[in-house]
Amino acid sequence: MIEVAPGVLVATHPFCATTTTVVVGADGRECLVVDPAVTAAEIDALAADLASRGLTVTGAFSTHPHWDHLLWRPALGDAPRWATAAAAQRARVVADDNARKAREALPGVDGRWLDRVTALPPGTHTLPWPGRSCRVLEHRAHAVGHAALLVDDVGVLVAGDMLSDVEPPLLDLDADTPWDDYSDALALFETVAPEVSVLVPGHGRVGDHDELVRRLAADRAYLGGLRDGTASGDPRLTDAEDWLRDEHEAAVRRIEPGLS
Ligand SMILES: [Zn+2]
Repeated sequence: MIEVAPGVLVATHPFCATTTTVVVGADGRECLVVDPAVTAAEIDALAADLASRGLTVTGAFSTHPHWDHLLWRPALGDAPRWATAAAAQRARVVADDNARKAREALPGVDGRWLDRVTALPPGTHTLPWPGRSCRVLEHRAHAVGHAALLVDDVGVLVAGDMLSDVEPPLLDLDADTPWDDYSDALALFETVAPEVSVLVPGHGRVGDHDELVRRLAADRAYLGGLRDGTASGDPRLTDAEDWLRDEHEAAVRRIEPGLS
């Protein structure tokens, strides 16, 4: 794990450049784990690493109810793993489907704990984790109940599946107004951007404040491109895997020019 800011550790995994984020509590003995990933062996190694650092997992957070952000292993312990109320409900509804996707994604993934989530009260603005202040930035882009975390004292934005340098915006095409939802989420991130010094995407590379500004502009350009027919030129689609290109093509079909 790499310390990207004081007391914030990030591991990056080979599968889809997925990240795991650990926020160390102010006392230096407890920690919060966000979206532990990906294989059982990787998560067990994470648990062993935390133990070797003298850290006890006293909280966890799932940014959204997609299988690769709901993974868990008994080695991490029994701490509550929070999600927004909408995300927790969704995680339970799609648990079987998520387990199948997890099994099919790559060998060694343990899909048995995907509905192990604790719902936050609707409208929660701060995570009920005593270790350190983490703001919950809930929005409706990418997935039902998606939320980013902002570690307040160091300005680290743990963005979930938003603001990636390796994936263009992936809209929730099951939503009624996916384009507007995504635009609103970017507006939320633009509001907090002055406070952000480090950006941790769920997939891709960690960036600094300037990189956040660059990705916000890139994602705005992609969204605009969905409406004017130029989104396919996004550099993140160059050499993209088939599934990513398929998601993009579906968005192009859904977001017809001038509509959402
Ligand atoms: Zn996702």
